[in-house]
Order: sequence, then C-alpha cells, then structure tokens
Amino acid sequence: MDSIKSILNADEIILPSSPAYAKETLVWSAHKHQRPQLVARPASVESLSRLLIALNDTDLEFAIRCGGCGNSSSKDVVITLSAFAGFKFISASETVIIGAGQVWEEVDRKLEEAAPGYAIVSARCSYVGVGGGTLQGGLGWLSSEYGLATSEEPDLLWALRDGGGNFVVVSAFKVKVYKYSSSIYSGMIMYPREALSALATEIPKFIERCKDPKLAMHFYCFDLYQGAFIGKLPQPGVAIFVEKGFKWALNIAGAQDMTRAMTFREKWFNDLLGSDPSLSAGTFVLVEMMQKPAFHSIKSDTDTAWPHTKWQQVLQLGTGALQDSSPETHALAVKCLADAPDMILGVGNWSQADILLRDFESFHEPEKMFGKNSAKMKRVKQKVDPKGRLKGAYSLI
Ligand SMILES: Cc1cc2nc3c(=O)[nH]c(=O)nc-3n(C[C@H](O)[C@H](O)[C@H](O)COP(=O)(O)OP(=O)(O)OC[C@H]3O[C@@H](n4cnc5c(N)ncnc54)[C@H](O)[C@@H]3O)c2cc1C
Repeated sequence: MDSIKSILNADEIILPSSPAYAKETLVWSAHKHQRPQLVARPASVESLSRLLIALNDTDLEFAIRCGGCGNSSSKDVVITLSAFAGFKFISASETVIIGAGQVWEEVDRKLEEAAPGYAIVSARCSYVGVGGGTLQGGLGWLSSEYGLATSEEPDLLWALRDGGGNFVVVSAFKVKVYKYSSSIYSGMIMYPREALSALATEIPKFIERCKDPKLAMHFYCFDLYQGAFIGKLPQPGVAIFVEKGFKWALNIAGAQDMTRAMTFREKWFNDLLGSDPSLSAGTFVLVEMMQKPAFHSIKSDTDTAWPHTKWQQVLQLGTGALQDSSPETHALAVKCLADAPDMILGVGNWSQADILLRDFESFHEPEKMFGKNSAKMKRVKQKVDPKGRLKGAYSLI
C-alpha cells in the first residue's frame, strides 16, 4: 500500500479519516461498501495510468468508481474518477467531450450553460455516474428518440458497451448532443388502491397507441409513507412518473390522491413487506414503459456485449432495509430478489440473459447473462487485462 501511496501526490490521496472519504466511497446499496483503506483520486490521465500500472503489479484489490450507483467498492483501493470532470462542447459536430468521473447532473448543467437548446441522452436519475451510466446503462428520457447513450465501435468498445467497467478505465467520452426544448412537462401522478383495475386497462392501451417518442413514463410501486423511516407500517402505493401527454392518466378516478395506496405486483411486493416491514425502506417495483425506438441504436444481439435478447419494457425490482438492519432482514431481501423473476414472470418464462446488467448479486451468473457474447468478451479481456486485475462488477474469467 505504501508503494501505491508513494506514486500519488498528497492531494490525490483520500484516507478513511479524510473529510472527502464518505462522499468518494458512497455506494447505492450500503451492504456493498467495503471500506477501502485508500481512495486514490488521480488528477490527470498520466497519474491514473501510473497508478494502474503500479496496481497491476500488486496483490491489492482495486475498483474504479464514478457515481457509485453501481456499488463500485473494494477493500483495498478505490480509484475515484471525480477529478475527470472536463466538459467541452463542439458545435461543428454537435458533440461534447465529457470527463468520465462526473454524474449526469453535472453534465446536464454544463450543457445547459454552454449550449442552451441542446440535450444529451443521459440517465433518468441525475446522480447516476457518466462512467457506469454509459458502460452499464445508457437509458435516458430521450432514449425513445435517440437510443442509448453508448455507440458502435470495434472489439474493445464493443465489450465496453453494456459489458461494464471490466476491461479498461475510461477517462472521457465523446457523446452526441441534440437540439432540444429546454421546457419539458413532467411530474408524478399518484393513485389510490381503487384505481388499479383502471390503470391495468389504460396503461397497456396507452403503450400500444403511443407513437410519439417524446412521451415516456415510469410506473412505480413503493412505500408511500416511507414507514421504515417514521416507524409506521408500510403503505404500498403506485405512482406514474410522466412526461407530457398523460391526460388519460389524470382522468382516472383518484389520480393525485396521495393518502391511500395500492400495489402493482401485489404478491411479491406485499408479501415481502408483510414478512418484514423494515424492508419498506428500500423495496420498490419500477416498470419503465419503453417504446421500441429506445433500443434502436442496437440492431442485433451481438451489437453490444450484453445481448439485449428482447425488446421489452424494463422491470426494476429493489429490496433493502436501513443500514443497521439484521442479517436475517438482509438475507430475506437478497432471497426475495433472487426469487422475484420466477414469482413475477413465472418459472421457465425468463432467462438470465433477460436481466439488465446493472447490479450483480451472488445468484447472478454472468456467463448466462452475456450468453453467446461471453466467448468474445473473454477474448477481449484476455487481451487488455490478462491478469484479470480490473474486476468491475462481475467476473467472466
Ligand atoms: C437509483 C438508480 C437510478 C438509475 N437510473 C438509471 C437510468 O435512468 N438510466 C440508466 O441507464 N441507468 C440507470 N441506473 C443504472 C446505472 O446506470 C448503473 O448502476 C451504473 O453502473 C451506475 O454507474 P455509476 O458510475 O454511478 O456507478 P459506479 O458504481 O461508480 O460504477 C459502476 C461500474 O462501472 C465501472 N466504471 C464507472 N466508471 C468507469 C470508467 N470511467 N471506466 C471504467 N469503468 C468504470 C465501475 O468500476 C463499476 O463496475 C440507475 C441506478 C440506480 C441505483
């Protein structure tokens, strides 16, 4: 560890006692925090490169961190890329060059300042990192019009597209921007339990008839009262996060009533909260109603590392309790997540290749998730990182 510290400048070293430590190690799922002994914050590409070369010759574990939403952590060293926060708008090509250590909120703000009237396919949640968000995500509110945030390239960049940070460290991305209105209608509509059957009828009809790529919605099921935080029993509720064009949703009786609630996937969601109400702190069902064009930048299942087997809506499930919860609660949260696809989609009706590559748990099998693309990914990995030192969120070798 001392040899690693010695190649960094003093202001590139963050220790557990440093004020910046908490922010630079924060992860979305608290149980994935491994309390690194050292956080390295290289200030330049040269320093980052020296650090990677040095780490490659040690036994130290290390992880690359951008926004932390993908839970990047390590027990030894975390390399935080937050110093890579550059931004350059190139009007001739309508592109931006963005440092890979920022979160999307910073990029959206810089773009608004530097080039008002332009927008970028960022992420829906502004605190998602540019690094992981591009390598493992790429779905933003503009995706129905402009596809995913990643783009087409030969082998290494192919592996990076949805293969995550397993191959190289990216210090900057060059990304296309689009002329776009800066006035966007959006918000949340909440419903009482009685609206469930009307919603179940109206949402599929809306998805079927909706051809305007500017329309987007999330259907969200969560604990309206955040019972775990205020010591009350959870009140499962439903909300639609919308952009424009949702008069039909507002016409449903009870819209905007925020005092009573209902569930979407009642069995999974209600059963879990019923067995341990403390899980209401982090349990949700989120259906991202995608339009087909959202994936139009991918033409086949070999275009990107993750095969995108189905052009389907995205179902996100989360389970979790507050940080001081018992091991039993944690085990229940993980088990319910593992059991969820069978319960919700039915045994035999899904495969691991249908799972969007974002958060890995021990029950996920990368080989099956990447399917027929695994072999090529292994070849690329062998070439760029023969010692397998860059761990990313999963291991294929
Ligand atoms: C609340 C929440 C909301 C989300 N919303 C969206 C959304 O709207 N759209 C969407 O597409 N996705 C979304 N995601 C998923 C998100 O894109 C992934 O979790 C992504 O991996 C997070 O990236 P990060 O940089 O914040 O996380 P990190 O944990 O910092 O990084 C995630 C992975 O990427 C690697 N990595 C990060 N930066 C680099 C780099 N520069 N070079 C090499 N490897 C790197 C890390 O090593 C790690 O393996 C969301 C996730 C959460 C938790």
